[in-house]
Amino acid sequence: MWENTYIKRKVFRRFTHIKVIPIHFPFISSFFMVFFSSILYNIFIIKLNIGGVDMGIKFCSLSSGSSGNCQYVETDRIKILIDSGFSGKKIESLLSSINVNPSEIDYILVTHEHIDHIKGVGVLSRKYDIPIFANEKTWISMEKLIGNVEEKNIKIFQSEEDFELGDLAIYPFKIFHDAAEPVGYIFYHKRTKISIMTDTGWVNDNMKNTIRGSSLYLIESNHDIQMLKEGSYPWYLKQRILSTKGHLSNLDAARTLIEVLMGNGEIVLLGHLSKENNRPELAYDTVREHIEEYGFSVNKNITLDLTYRDKAGKVYIL
Ligand SMILES: [Zn+2]
Ligand SMILES: [Zn+2]
Repeated sequence: MWENTYIKRKVFRRFTHIKVIPIHFPFISSFFMVFFSSILYNIFIIKLNIGGVDMGIKFCSLSSGSSGNCQYVETDRIKILIDSGFSGKKIESLLSSINVNPSEIDYILVTHEHIDHIKGVGVLSRKYDIPIFANEKTWISMEKLIGNVEEKNIKIFQSEEDFELGDLAIYPFKIFHDAAEPVGYIFYHKRTKISIMTDTGWVNDNMKNTIRGSSLYLIESNHDIQMLKEGSYPWYLKQRILSTKGHLSNLDAARTLIEVLMGNGEIVLLGHLSKENNRPELAYDTVREHIEEYGFSVNKNITLDLTYRDKAGKVYIL
């Protein structure tokens, strides 16, 4: 008992003995923190600029819609396509419309095996010797549809696990769609994040958390619910599109955006618009009205833009 009290006092005394230090410590420590962090910051900036001025990351929706999908991402080091849902010829011409030679494409990433995403994947891989990345279930489902691909060009990733290509970090995340194992993609390049999320009937909290904080979003705005319900599609197809494994409506896109946007100048591209059940102006106005109700201001703190079914959209450099 006595011993314990003695030890406690001793410890206390030792502690009280050094109590003068906290008075000076914040000044000394903050001086060193500022000093060292400025050195680290400069090293970091110098490192970033090695090899000349960094171009950043380029994004262009070469085409998006129910009839075909193909997105383009470029950095200083690599050029990739996300899906190739047209004939090889059509993709060549879409690429040339933004001055990219198809032979420069380093990789093709696939979201899922539906024909509007994979039609030209095999052709391009064979013609230009391009490796194709997809998860295992997608590979199994699309193998017969895309024709022979050289073994060295069959690349398999695990969904929800990061991988790197060139100077890009890539995160394929699971989405809700009637395919084997469909994914959306996040691309990280230095401080920039790009999210591509189409062909999903539902966006859960996990997906919202995954895409939040992006500088550019390509988000599905597939149909207007009323146009779809009153349209000519057979009942089973309407049910499929409206289901949680179908496609996002204009309203779904708006509701998702409200929960992920920050209003710090993000670019939002509306994608995978249906030809039958949507109109570009309707998709744009529906999303604009809804996000503005929540305090965002289109063309002030958010850039809202469309993608097209038959031509490349604007090339964004971030
Ligand atoms: Zn699909
Ligand atoms: Zn699709």
